[in-house]
Amino acid sequence: MKQHIDTAPIWESYREDCECPLCLLNAKAESSNVDYFLGESVMEPSQRIEVNKKGFCARHFKMMYDAGNRLGLALMTQTYMRETVKALRENAEKARSAAAEEAGKSILKRIGGKKSAGFDEAVAELKGMDDQCLMCKNIRESMDRYIYTVLYMYRHEAEFPKLFGESKGMCLKHYAETLEAAPKHLSGETLKHFVDTLTEIELRNFERLEEEIDWFTQKFDYRNQDKPWGNSRDAVKRSVNKLRWQVVED
Ligand SMILES: [Zn+2]
Ligand SMILES: [Zn+2]
Repeated sequence: MKQHIDTAPIWESYREDCECPLCLLNAKAESSNVDYFLGESVMEPSQRIEVNKKGFCARHFKMMYDAGNRLGLALMTQTYMRETVKALRENAEKARSAAAEEAGKSILKRIGGKKSAGFDEAVAELKGMDDQCLMCKNIRESMDRYIYTVLYMYRHEAEFPKLFGESKGMCLKHYAETLEAAPKHLSGETLKHFVDTLTEIELRNFERLEEEIDWFTQKFDYRNQDKPWGNSRDAVKRSVNKLRWQVVED
């Protein structure tokens, strides 16, 4: 079965002047996921079950909170909280009985012997409670599809390689992910051409940002205070976002 390939969002973000077109796509995927989880998903029992089991990471919980739909978030959080309390009860029981088992051992046995696994298990279970974000999972799937589409377009759309070559590269995270995906979907001369272009624009644009942030710091020297800012005024924000991904907003 031929998979439908939607090239429009890629064209759109590559036509914007930005440090990473994939970050723009990531931001759109995040905002539509926020809308979905605060809206429709509340009415879908299968999604509710998933949310109740896994919840969201700190970043995505915060995004939903900032979106302002307190009732949507409350409805979802209420049942997730109920499941969490149930899990916490079982977890506390596990930790208590492991501690009781440890307490029963003599000091010599505790130093020399193997510690009971129950306590570590209980702690690992607690730590795992906040790293199973449903939104991260959806966004990961969208981003994999977008990266595949970029590679597909590089090979099949005559105008795309030029636009790609004129872009400012990507953030470090999306650069690594795209480079990783390249040999899975491209081969021969196209692969070589793509990797040459990508690594070249990436380096050139990191070097540009290095100069821009350098000038930002130099502008604080009184001797430079009347000299023009050039592109450096927002260089800190763009550098942080380039070094990681789009985490800092205006
Ligand atoms: Zn990015
Ligand atoms: Zn997340």
